[in-house]
Amino acid sequence: MKTIGMIGGMSWESTLVYYRIVNEAVRERMGGLHSAKSILYSVDFAEIEALQHAGRWDAAQSILVGAAQALVRAGADLLIICTNTMHKLADPVAASVAIPLLHIADPTAEAVLAAGMNTVALLGTRFTMEEDFYRRRLEDRYGLRVLIPDAVQRQSVHDIIYTELCLGRIREPSRQAYARIIDDLVQRGAQGVILGCTEIGLLVRADGCPVPVFDTARIHARAAVHAALTE
Ligand code: GLU
Repeated sequence: MKTIGMIGGMSWESTLVYYRIVNEAVRERMGGLHSAKSILYSVDFAEIEALQHAGRWDAAQSILVGAAQALVRAGADLLIICTNTMHKLADPVAASVAIPLLHIADPTAEAVLAAGMNTVALLGTRFTMEEDFYRRRLEDRYGLRVLIPDAVQRQSVHDIIYTELCLGRIREPSRQAYARIIDDLVQRGAQGVILGCTEIGLLVRADGCPVPVFDTARIHARAAVHAALTE
C-alpha cells in the first residue's frame, strides 16, 4: 500500500471527512484492521482564506508547495489537495514534487461520465465556479457541459461556504437555499450536481436532491485509496 499525502485543513471540517473516508475505503477493500497509510499536513485556514480573498495566490502557492515538499520528505508516495478551490494552484504544486498529484476534478469527471451524464451543475466557491481552472478541466478533458448558478446565487453559495460550512455550522435555511439553487439548475438541464467544494457534502444530502450528487471530497478520497492500492 502506498502512503497518501494529504494537504488539508482547508477547512479541517472537510479534512475530517477525507480522513474517515480513506480509512473506510481501505477497510472495505482489504478487510479486518487494515487502514490507510497517510500523512496529513494541515494548514491554518485563516491564512489561506485571507490570501485567497486578497488575490495573493503567489503567497498561497508558497504555503502549498512547502506542504507538498514536507509530505514528500515525510514519505508520501502520492499527494492530494483536500479542497477544490486550491486546485487553482494544482499545476505549480504538482511541478514542485516528483510524486503524482491526484487532481480532484479527474475522478469527479470520471464518476459523472460513468453515470452516463454529460450536463452537470457545479457548486463551489466563486473561485471554483467562475474561474477557468476547474470548469475548463471538466469541459476540455471530459467533454462535460457545466452549468453554474446565476451571480446572486453564486455569492450565496460562496458566502455559506466561508461563513458557515468551514466553521462547522450546518443550518437548515442554508440547506433550503442550496436546494432552491439546485432546483433551478435542474430546470436548466443539469442531470447531476457536482458538490465542488469539499464542505458542501456536510450540508446537501443526496436523498434530498432531485438528481444524483457527486461529492468531490468522497470521490477524491476514494480515488486516492484506489491509487494507493494500485501498482
Ligand atoms: N473546501 C472548499 C473547496 O473545496 C473551500 C475552502 C477553500 O477555499 O479551500 O473549495
